[in-house]
Amino acid sequence: MVKKHIFIVFIILTIVLIIYFSMFKQKPTVENLSEGIEVTKEDYIYKDKLLELGYNMNDITTIQKKVSNISAKKFLLYKKYDNLTKFISSPYFDISKIEKYENYYKNNPNYSTDQIVLYVEIGLDNEFYTNINEIDNYLDVKALVNKYNKLPDNVEFDDLVTIDNKYTNGKTLQLRSIAYDNLIDMIEAAKRDNIDLTVISAYRTSEYQNNLFNNSVNKNGMNHALLYSAKSGHSEHQLGLAVDFNSINNSFDQTEEFKWLKNNSYKYGFILRYPKEKEFITGYGYEPWHYRYLGIDIATKIFKENITYEEYLVKFSK
Ligand SMILES: [Zn+2]
Repeated sequence: MVKKHIFIVFIILTIVLIIYFSMFKQKPTVENLSEGIEVTKEDYIYKDKLLELGYNMNDITTIQKKVSNISAKKFLLYKKYDNLTKFISSPYFDISKIEKYENYYKNNPNYSTDQIVLYVEIGLDNEFYTNINEIDNYLDVKALVNKYNKLPDNVEFDDLVTIDNKYTNGKTLQLRSIAYDNLIDMIEAAKRDNIDLTVISAYRTSEYQNNLFNNSVNKNGMNHALLYSAKSGHSEHQLGLAVDFNSINNSFDQTEEFKWLKNNSYKYGFILRYPKEKEFITGYGYEPWHYRYLGIDIATKIFKENITYEEYLVKFSK
């Protein structure tokens, strides 16, 4: 009889213990909070550690609004970041890049903290042609190639169309079909405004691009080549979505043709891809002749905001 009672008490005790420990295990659900969910100060379990590192309560309030406990544990508990709360106020802030922000800011103290966050997101804290990513969305009209993003080798497109040679001065040039009708509409619309546009370069194979780059190095030296020519795999012409008009010469920007393109190309989905004074973002010198097809919506946004495609991708595409 006594044995039976002890057994029942033992069973009950075991059940109670199991329930207690399972509740205890679930208690720190604060760990499961995702990025950006607000928690009360009491719930911010690393508050004391952050205070110890030298952040004040205002800093911690700012931090807890944007950084979850999980991220704080991962990125913030090892050292104090002097400009953390300033970086946090940028809409593109990403806690995993805090070390990069601090380093890039140290080397570029003339930029605002907002610029630092934006430029790190673009990848500008890396030297051009370093940290290169091979893109896999090269069929997408939004595909990005620049000095950090390249096409895989041996890419082939099955939708290239030959541009009617009355628009190319008799040259045989190709473009991806997705951009073709808009290109022709644009050239015809320009013509109605007495503007003569001739396509002088469009799709290029990787071999062709490679030769162009090497010829440019031989002719003008490496620095000039790097500024005005792309290494093979890094050219928008290889995407089949870029065209050069009329004249590869900076004086092209003094012409009526350029003025027309600058003000109207977005209506047909094309952007001036390498504008003046954005060389440090695009990696290329000013190219008034080079236009990239992105579709009317994106091109219009880029035109209205007066930004580069790199900036567009960070600001409006995430
Ligand atoms: Zn070009």
